[in-house]
Amino acid sequence: MTHLSLWWDTLPDDLTSPLGSTLDRDISCDVAIVGAGYTGLWTAYYLQAVDPSLRIAIIEAEHAGFGASGRNGGWASALFPVSLPVLARHSSRDAAIRQHRAMIASLDEIDRVRQAERWSFDWARGGTVVAARTPVQLLALRDEVETARTWGFDDADLRLLSAHETRDHVNTTDVLGGTFTPHCASINPARLVRSLALSVTQRGASLYEHTPATSIEPGIVRTLRGDVRAPVVVRATEGYTRSLTGMTRDIAPVYSMMLATAPLPPEVWDQIGLRNRETFSDARHLIIYGQRTADGRLAFGGRGAPYYFGSRITPDQDRDRTVHAQLWRTLVDLFPVLAGHEVSYAWGGPLGVARDWWASCGYDKPSGIAWAGGYVGDGVTTTNLAGRTLAHLITGTDSDLASLPWVGHRSRLWEPEPMRWLGANLALRMASGADASEDRTGRRSRRAQLMSRLTGG
Ligand SMILES: Cc1cc2nc3c(=O)[nH]c(=O)nc-3n(C[C@H](O)[C@H](O)[C@H](O)COP(=O)(O)OP(=O)(O)OC[C@H]3O[C@@H](n4cnc5c(N)ncnc54)[C@H](O)[C@@H]3O)c2cc1C
Repeated sequence: MTHLSLWWDTLPDDLTSPLGSTLDRDISCDVAIVGAGYTGLWTAYYLQAVDPSLRIAIIEAEHAGFGASGRNGGWASALFPVSLPVLARHSSRDAAIRQHRAMIASLDEIDRVRQAERWSFDWARGGTVVAARTPVQLLALRDEVETARTWGFDDADLRLLSAHETRDHVNTTDVLGGTFTPHCASINPARLVRSLALSVTQRGASLYEHTPATSIEPGIVRTLRGDVRAPVVVRATEGYTRSLTGMTRDIAPVYSMMLATAPLPPEVWDQIGLRNRETFSDARHLIIYGQRTADGRLAFGGRGAPYYFGSRITPDQDRDRTVHAQLWRTLVDLFPVLAGHEVSYAWGGPLGVARDWWASCGYDKPSGIAWAGGYVGDGVTTTNLAGRTLAHLITGTDSDLASLPWVGHRSRLWEPEPMRWLGANLALRMASGADASEDRTGRRSRRAQLMSRLTGG
């Protein structure tokens, strides 16, 4: 389980010891959960909280935390992949606002659990600073803040920063201004997912690792090593969903790549900033994200890796020389003081994207099948909301969460290949093309508007 990410390689021993066994026979239980990432494990955690007597089996193809949950950028943000106007079009203005407010509350909930359980995953609630480094980016950030105001989000949620204030948070080159939101914490993602796995297994959930499920059907999960019978089955497979029979077109795996420096000396941090371990980005279209880790490294990631034909996922795709080299050039462009420093880790992994870019969760009572996923790159906090919501739906607990607009949303299927490959890669190309065209023309790119239509935004 080493070399999956910086986070895995620096885990303490108590979080790396094996927690499960391999399934070797047919079993039955009350709830079978497929996938031991945040989604599956938070669902188990809250099911145990509502009804400690439930017999829960978690079926995992590799080991708990193997997927995006053990490899991500560690932004526990309140970002939700579906915008307020799109949510409102499908529900109501109030429901859309409740969905985004529920994300902020989920961040508080993770903090509450962290303290109650005494988990240590390097939590630092420093907020997020986004820098505008071109006039077009500055206009885009101003628009974003103005739009937030029309939806009732005020300075306490998102505020504009002057160039000076932005640099005070993060001293990148070419800063013209920025935004700040307090609704984000930097975390060590693998520590969170392993703490969750440890906790749910200690409370009695059975974890079956190295046990790939081949299909999910009402009342049964089929694996190569035996069947798991349960009246409730939860799909929590995110970017890997295509491994289940009949589900190749539900969720597309899109890669995000990361790198991390060695621990940097204090004089370098004096120049970069991020004193409160704020997460940071800039306002380009092709997403980048970074954090100052608890042990003083800069962990930095971005999109740009291609979508692979047939939704292929292989270990060699976790590293992409071209994208990692581009990420390093971007990082040195942001912080020239890093030139000559060392990249200690480079990794990546697949996140999950539904055709209409919606995250969703739900429980179909007649079939007993529940699901959650499609978080795009915003799953760290959203999975907590998903886990709580699924636990309430499955146990029939009265809950406000059940009426949030993402609950029960069904995304349409992705196109068959080769259309899926063409469409997904076109959207990725448009994002980088839009940045280049804005740099050249100084105007908001029409490609960006088209891309937003393609991605359902
Ligand atoms: C590089 C990267 C950076 C990211 N950065 C951020 C960030 O900073 N902030 C943020 O909010 N989000 C981020 N994300 C997204 C976030 O990590 C995910 O949305 C979140 O971890 C999803 O959790 P999950 O449990 O649904 O999926 P996963 O963690 O991917 O877990 C799915 C699990 O299911 C298992 N599985 C799949 N198929 C089967 C099967 N057939 N049988 C048995 N088991 C199966 C897999 O092995 C895996 O362990 C990032 C993602 C990546 C890849």
